[in-house]
Amino acid sequence: ELARWQRPLRADFPIVAANPEQAYLDSAATAQKPRQVLDAVHAYLTTSNANAGRGSYPWANATTALVAGAAQRVREFLGDRSAGAGAGASPVHFTSGTTEGLRTVARDWLPQLLRDGDEIVVPFGDHRANLAPWLEARDLLAAQGVRIAVREMPCQAGTGDYDARALAALAGPRTRFVAATHVHHVYGADMNVHRIREAVGPDVPICLDAAQSVGHQPVSVADLDVDFLVFSGHKALALPGTGAVWARGERGPAFRPGGWAGTPNTAGIASLAAALDWLEAAGVERITRWTAALASVLTDGLSRMPAYEVLGCRSSLAADTAVQRRGSIVTFRHQAIGSQDLGFILFSHGFMVRSDDHCQAGRDPQDGSVRVSLHVYNTLEEMEKLLTALAKLQ
Ligand code: PMP
Repeated sequence: ELARWQRPLRADFPIVAANPEQAYLDSAATAQKPRQVLDAVHAYLTTSNANAGRGSYPWANATTALVAGAAQRVREFLGDRSAGAGAGASPVHFTSGTTEGLRTVARDWLPQLLRDGDEIVVPFGDHRANLAPWLEARDLLAAQGVRIAVREMPCQAGTGDYDARALAALAGPRTRFVAATHVHHVYGADMNVHRIREAVGPDVPICLDAAQSVGHQPVSVADLDVDFLVFSGHKALALPGTGAVWARGERGPAFRPGGWAGTPNTAGIASLAAALDWLEAAGVERITRWTAALASVLTDGLSRMPAYEVLGCRSSLAADTAVQRRGSIVTFRHQAIGSQDLGFILFSHGFMVRSDDHCQAGRDPQDGSVRVSLHVYNTLEEMEKLLTALAKLQ
């Protein structure tokens, strides 16, 4: 049933259809784009391209409305039940991706919150984009005589996802901010972030890096009870150079990300709205099940080949859920072949994978691995062919 659902969706991706001998397995870096997204960009640029928030002629008004509409689309897609599109709606700030989004929170908002002696808790072993901005904010504040302590978000020894009990013990009256990652970009694990709120209490702002969850699994800011949610549009089927920060409207210091100070990427914003429409029509929950099924096939196959080690961090959520959640990312190493070489060999067989340290914070770059990351257009046949190619390298 899922295979019948998937086939026409795969056909929506022109680059995939044009390259039947190639398997794109690097969607965690950036995803391919469906025709409908490309059409939306073309339609915008050929009917009403202008700047947003300035000018009062029809194309400028249409562009301003496009940006406001896309912001509302983001709120809806993220399950923000609090407000309509009008005044009082939670701010949505468009960025070039998650890196710029996290940096925006760190630069434009966090310093307003912090006082001398405060503490923040941030992840040390996730993507560098979710560590560097917090350290920079600390250093900037230190230069102004405001000392902030940065604590490491604790992880569970057995699974590697966040340890809510240890976090509850770590968080004290001076804990003013927590940053976390929804799904790990190397291990694919769902990091169990819904337990962070109960660990830190109602008043501590939580900022979530959702780069690897938006578009892959249902994401609800209401259920997660976070204050900032940052994601990459380009990993969620929109154009390169797109992303957004959603900020909870009604609480904390105002989030002032520059307003209309610069020219926004309006074509990219049009693509993001179209991508969210496409994902919703396809069914995000089905995308989760499809890619988890493919990832399970790959993980199971690799576990039968002694030459390979699958890296992980297995989410403790996997044990709680009926459908075993393996996400859309499988990362592994060969015992003898280096990850760069393995990447080249796999490309010679038509597989596009990522092979390096994956921008993971705190990792030795020598310590590389091969990452296979999936999206809705990938197929079981691709997984079987990949396993055949990997088996020959044992
Ligand atoms: N955080 C995570 C968890 C990621 O996987 C990535 C992309 N690899 C980023 C941040 C950075 O995203 P972007 O390239 O859109 O800035």
